[in-house]
Amino acid sequence: MFCTNCGKPVAPETRFCTHCGTDQTALPAAAPPQPFHAQVASSAAPAVAMHTPTPLPTAALSSGRGVTPAIWAVVGTLAVAILGGLGYWGWSNKVAGEETANKLTAVEEQRRLAAEQASAASNQAAEAQQILAAQAAMDKRIEVEEAQARANPQTQPGQAAQSPAPPPPVKR
Ligand SMILES: [Zn+2]
Repeated sequence: MFCTNCGKPVAPETRFCTHCGTDQTALPAAAPPQPFHAQVASSAAPAVAMHTPTPLPTAALSSGRGVTPAIWAVVGTLAVAILGGLGYWGWSNKVAGEETANKLTAVEEQRRLAAEQASAASNQAAEAQQILAAQAAMDKRIEVEEAQARANPQTQPGQAAQSPAPPPPVKR
């Protein structure tokens, strides 16, 4: 048989457990009544209140208290992992974006410089053209003015030259 207190094997004739010293003679008598007593106790309201609900709430509470922190720990770990992943993702994306932006900026800078050079060249060409045009216009104007001056040498003197102007045709 086994000691009902410590569960270690003890000789049937032994009265006291050699391990824990529990009186084994009382146990055979107590062992059958124990389930009976438990049944009676479970059927008895106060005993039920004492036995059944107490372990259950404590178990539930302890398990609940144990589960909730565990859940929160898992949730926290997941949140940290997710946030960390998101942070790393965002950071890597930001870095990649910055690198891309830098590359784009460099490309755009090169394009802008090329465009500026092209525009500067075109501006220079345009300026040259403008200068040429202005020079041409000025030359033309000068030519026209010179031609006018040559055609009407008496223009400068004023109306005096214009009023005698009709008479010359008459003289012709
Ligand atoms: Zn024992």
